Amino acid sequence: MPDQGIFDICVIGGGINGCGIARDAVGRGYSVVLAEMNDFASGTSSGATKLIHGGLRYLEHYEFRLVREALMEREVLWAMAPHIIWPLRFVLPFHKGGIRPAWLIRLGLFLYDHLGGRKLLPATKTLDMRRDPAAKPLKPLFSKAFEYSDGWVDDARMVVLNARDAADRGAEILSRSRVISARRENGLWTVGVQNTTTGALRTITARMLVNAAGPWVDQVLSNAFGKNKVHNVRLVQGSHIVVRKKFSDPRAYFFQNPDNRIIFAIPYENDFTLIGTTDRDYTDDPKNVKISAEEIDYLCSAASEYFAEPVRPEDIVWTYSAVRPLYDDGASMAQEATRDYVLKLDPSGGDAPLLNVFGGKLTTYRRLAEHALEKIGEAIGFKGRSWTAGSSLPGGDFPPTGYAAEVAKLRKAYAFLEDRHAARLVRAYGTRAAKLLGDSGSSEGLGRHFGGTLYEREVRWLIDQEWASRAEDVLWRRTKQGLYLSAEEAAGLEDYMAGATAH
Ligand SMILES: Cc1cc2nc3c(=O)[nH]c(=O)nc-3n(C[C@H](O)[C@H](O)[C@H](O)COP(=O)(O)OP(=O)(O)OC[C@H]3O[C@@H](n4cnc5c(N)ncnc54)[C@H](O)[C@@H]3O)c2cc1C
Repeated sequence: MPDQGIFDICVIGGGINGCGIARDAVGRGYSVVLAEMNDFASGTSSGATKLIHGGLRYLEHYEFRLVREALMEREVLWAMAPHIIWPLRFVLPFHKGGIRPAWLIRLGLFLYDHLGGRKLLPATKTLDMRRDPAAKPLKPLFSKAFEYSDGWVDDARMVVLNARDAADRGAEILSRSRVISARRENGLWTVGVQNTTTGALRTITARMLVNAAGPWVDQVLSNAFGKNKVHNVRLVQGSHIVVRKKFSDPRAYFFQNPDNRIIFAIPYENDFTLIGTTDRDYTDDPKNVKISAEEIDYLCSAASEYFAEPVRPEDIVWTYSAVRPLYDDGASMAQEATRDYVLKLDPSGGDAPLLNVFGGKLTTYRRLAEHALEKIGEAIGFKGRSWTAGSSLPGGDFPPTGYAAEVAKLRKAYAFLEDRHAARLVRAYGTRAAKLLGDSGSSEGLGRHFGGTLYEREVRWLIDQEWASRAEDVLWRRTKQGLYLSAEEAAGLEDYMAGATAH
């Protein structure tokens, strides 16, 4: 709780970085308020490829610090949230005359296996693609492949679980609240916040400000702070397509394209395949980002180079796009700009400090938050110690390899649940799935059925516990049930939510 109405820290932005910093800070004893102008993870943090990965291709750009930190984080994050994060094996096929020689890839994967932090994840191995089932959906182009480990994450849920945990620890977490002004007054920040649903204005006073607005970080500096000529981030668009399942193998594919780029094809939400991503400079407002016809063509034709059955635009059931807020290091090509994060304190010693967050990855958000807390400590005085490694995100308090046991437990307690419903609930809510289901003893007890495996009981939980207020929050961020609901069913949910969240 803030002392005399003054917060220690006000965080702008409810993406993974803002929510991660807010959680870490409140856990150390700072009073924290966070304002997100839209829904949590509605910016870049729900538009990722969703890998908890070292970033094999960043080795080519000599980003060893970043890759090592990210590799070490894989198992730390998996242990923190084994419901929303799990290991994934990647098949990287290659052939003679490919753009990278096999020895170079093997060297990269050797570093990948040995740079640090790998205890549970299995090591790289070589596959004989004349025999391995991974070859089945592919054209007969490859005699060999490497298979290596990384992780998968439900990105939007990782954000909201950080927000939930921060709130549980005492932070004030505001959704649909845009920071419209920020000025220094008597050594403190006076921050103007507008509720974007009701229009209501509120003034927040804080000792320190953290600008974690992702792709909007420069916009916040020029609009809310009135700074001129701000150019810190390079916006790089990345888009993904989702098609009906192209293969039943549980492994993902890593394909190297002749243009030196790579694409992934990943098993997605049981019935689908996720294919991405593109990489192109972006100059419009990040809120308008949308896949282009060229990107659709690029992803379809790149994937069709490898899959025996082509990927056609008409196979696409969903697409999403997001903008990477990369620190502008002047690299000439979008895919070469640094993926590392940069934290800048402004001014370094004076009153009412401001910390700007540039760049970052989902995988490194926890370490980014720890580094931010070092800067915050230097600026307004240290509190607490690093604590998030070894902690659990809400619902993640079970062993990393314990997912199947959690599903079996839930199935036993709620025998009426269909297998895929129980599996999904444990993936989304972990040990909190039983709290969500409460005393319901039958499907009827779950209330109105909106379509897919989405029932009123879960929607209520999302409104009460996870700040959901629109159908899209539920269908595309808290869950991916949007893939299963018809347009009519989605409209039914929208009406229900409008009634349930009316003030
Ligand atoms: C295509 C793509 C693929 C990626 N794949 C991966 C991957 O596989 N693995 C990985 O580790 N990383 C990946 N990343 C990187 C990762 O997604 C981003 O680094 C991360 O999500 C950035 O989070 P953020 O919190 O900085 O920004 P955001 O998630 O965009 O959050 C910023 C928030 O600030 C809010 N905001 C802006 N202005 C204001 C204001 N005035 N007031 C209040 N709120 C405001 C916005 O609404 C937004 O929600 C990928 C990124 C892209 C684009």
